[in-house]
Amino acid sequence: MAKPKRSRWNIFLNKQQQELLSKQEECTRRSASLLRELRSQDAQPLKNSGGIGQAAERQAQAMCVRQINDVDATQKAIEAALARMKAGTYGFCVSCEDRIAEKRLKALPWATHCIACAA
Ligand SMILES: [Zn+2]
Repeated sequence: MAKPKRSRWNIFLNKQQQELLSKQEECTRRSASLLRELRSQDAQPLKNSGGIGQAAERQAQAMCVRQINDVDATQKAIEAALARMKAGTYGFCVSCEDRIAEKRLKALPWATHCIACAA
C-alpha cells in the first residue's frame, strides 16, 4: 500500500477535529436547553384537565426526551471519534479497517464505518 501523504491527511484531520469540537459544543448547548425545556414542562401545572390536553403535553415531553437521547448519542459518538483521533485510528472503518472516504467523513465526522460496511 502506498504511503499516505501525511501532511495532507494531517490537515484534514485537523479540520475534522475542529468540526468535532464545535459540534460537541453545539450538543452541550442543545442538551442544556432541552433539559431546561423539559423541566419547565414538568413544572407547569396541567392547564387543560381534559384528556386531549394532557396527552399533548405528554407527547411534547416524550419528544423532548427523545431529542435529549439523540443529542446524547451524538455526543458519545463525537467523544469516541476524538478518542480514535488520539489513538490514530480515526478515518478507518472499524469493521473492515479500510479507509473511510473523506467525503463521508466530511458529511459525518464521527463515522465509524465505510460506506460499504454501513450499508
Ligand atoms: Zn468497512
